Formats: sequence, C-alpha cells, structure tokens
Amino acid sequence: MRFGPAGYPPEGKDAFGSLEYTRSIGLDALEVGLVRGAKMAEERAVKIGEKAKELDIRLSCHAPYYISFNSDKPETRERSVEWVMDTARTAHNMGAYLIVIHAASYGKSPETALDSVIEGLTVCKDNMDNEGIDDVILGVETMGKKGQFGTLDEIEKIVAELDGVHPVLDVAHVHARGNGALKTEESMSDMLNQFFPLCGDIAHFHISNIEYGDMGEKRHLTLDHKEPDMQVLANLLNDHNGDCTFICESPETSADAVLFKSMFPKFQNQGQV
Ligand SMILES: [Zn+2]
Repeated sequence: MRFGPAGYPPEGKDAFGSLEYTRSIGLDALEVGLVRGAKMAEERAVKIGEKAKELDIRLSCHAPYYISFNSDKPETRERSVEWVMDTARTAHNMGAYLIVIHAASYGKSPETALDSVIEGLTVCKDNMDNEGIDDVILGVETMGKKGQFGTLDEIEKIVAELDGVHPVLDVAHVHARGNGALKTEESMSDMLNQFFPLCGDIAHFHISNIEYGDMGEKRHLTLDHKEPDMQVLANLLNDHNGDCTFICESPETSADAVLFKSMFPKFQNQGQV
C-alpha cells in the first residue's frame, strides 16, 4: 500500500524538493496536479519521473478539470480528448502509472452522458494505442456533485465496455453525493465490495473529508472532521491483500496522508512521523 499527497506539497520549493519532502515524511506516492493544463516538456517530465523513481515514489497525474465529454459544444468534446492526451503523454514521459479524469457534467443532456464518456474515452484509448502509450491507465473518478457524471454504478458501465479504464474511488465524493452515505461500517464495506471487483489490481483512492449539501460536494476538509470517519475505512482495509494507492486531497495533503497511513493498525509502531 502506498500513501501520498495530491499535488506537490508546498513544503518542497519545487517539484524535486516536493518529492524529497514526500519521501522524508514516510510517504511513497504523489499525484501530480495537471489540472490547469497538462502539457509539459518531455525533458522536464522525464527528470521528475527519474527523481520519483530514485525515491521509490509512485506517480499518478490528475488531468485538467475542464474536460467535459458530454458538453453540448462539439469543440469542447474534441478538446477534451486532447486534454486527456496531453495528460497521458506527460504521464507516459514521467512513468506515472495512471491518470485521473473528471469525465463530464450532465449539463443539458444527462441521458447522453454515459455514451458520450464512453465515446470520448474510446477515442483517447485509440490515440494512445497509436502513439504507443501502453503504460498509462485511464482512471475515471467518482464525483461528489450531483450534477457531475461519476457514480460508481456509472463508472462500472464504462469499465465493462473499455479495456484499460479503471475506476478511481474518491471516498469523500461518494459520501457527499449520498448525503453522508458512509456513516456506517456496513456502507463503507458495501462501497469497497463494489469497487474491488471493478478495479482489478489497480486500486487508486482519493481520500479526504468533505462538506456537503443538497447538491452534494461543497468543499474538501481535513480528516479530523470524520465526514466520513476514515478510521473505519483503515480498519476495513487493514487486512486487504492487494496493492492500493491512497492520494490525500484534504487541505492538509501530506500531513493527512501521514495521518491516514497511521490509522492502519498494521502501520502503527513503525516509527514514522
Ligand atoms: Zn479529482
């Protein structure tokens, strides 16, 4: 199991310092935020990837927020393919194993969202095949706002259609979308029982706490809010045999990643900060 921050922790002055900081506090994953643009010079991406490899930090990349495969504007749908491809190319150059995508909003036509997302990601997969990018997984994130495409049920349908696409389980988003759906151990366990068969051996999680209302997600919170109680999740996952990556998206990206790791009974008493 690996744990790390979303984005470069501010404690490191630059990408390389952030990777070193991440390792210094006992973390071994990091999700590079390419959320406002994913083009990166190949040389720089390769250097960041080499640094991460040297430190044994598993990299993933978060694709731009403005991707929307169900937009009523054809040019936005076309550019969404390019934004995914920019992210996939950067991830490939870095050696990042997975990219995380917010696939769509329902917008004016919720009924077309599933087909639109499948269509868009199919084009992305074909382009990646043509460019020889065979080492980057497309991760579709569970979304927290009720106007966004991305329940686990919806993502299950995409995974069934498309090889190389996996769900990314944002636990707080599931909680927010269901008006506090993960208040009990049983509900947390049900979510995992749906997720693990879908994700195969690629179990990529986003963790945080969250404020929510009638429309779902409002904002991410630190783990001490117990919305949901992450100790329950850590207990459930403690004996899980498969590999998992936990990326922390709380306002305290690295401190809460360390805290979540420490919630696992098996990682206690390891003497790490
Ligand atoms: Zn996300």
